[in-house]
Amino acid sequence: MPKIDFNVKRDVLDLMIGGEKISYCYQCGICNDVCPVSQRWGSRYNPRDTVLFSALGYKETLFLAIKRDPFILWGCTACETCDEKCPSEIPITEIICYLKNAAVAAGLTPEFYPESARTIRDNGMAIPVQPAINKRREKLGIGLPPNIPVDEVKAIMEATGINKVLGKKEEKEEGTA
Ligand code: SF4
Ligand code: SF4
Repeated sequence: MPKIDFNVKRDVLDLMIGGEKISYCYQCGICNDVCPVSQRWGSRYNPRDTVLFSALGYKETLFLAIKRDPFILWGCTACETCDEKCPSEIPITEIICYLKNAAVAAGLTPEFYPESARTIRDNGMAIPVQPAINKRREKLGIGLPPNIPVDEVKAIMEATGINKVLGKKEEKEEGTA
């Protein structure tokens, strides 16, 4: 029998707004049917399973599966289509977001995500502006992109503790010591 993590049960049920509704999941599968990621990737991605494993507290089993294939968690685009259609009004996207945070804390993050977060923190955008792109924008007559307040973006992201996750805080402290 899979090991039960009562902290996951408690976090999902007690700490999340609407989390207690997870008890009313009757595994109808509508979330899976309407999920665009599931429609594209079939059995590789299944939010119904994720909700079930969370409700049961099967964190270890779920995380082992995530280790084998990170896509089963990180494939979620947070589009919230499942939330809109779930007959029990379960905040599925929130549950998946909670699990993503737990996966980050456990070091189960595909490298692509920290890299993207680093790029956004340091440039204020996911795809930094390049002179070649600006030239093409001008050629297309769509003008230059607006100036991004990078310092503000950085301050907001750092307030979330992102540096700890990215392992940059220590580097910064060493550099200023
Ligand atoms: S749609 Fe809602 S009730 Fe149905 S399986 Fe998904 S989470 Fe459970
Ligand atoms: S929020 Fe995630 S699980 Fe829900 S429909 Fe969108 S991709 Fe699928």
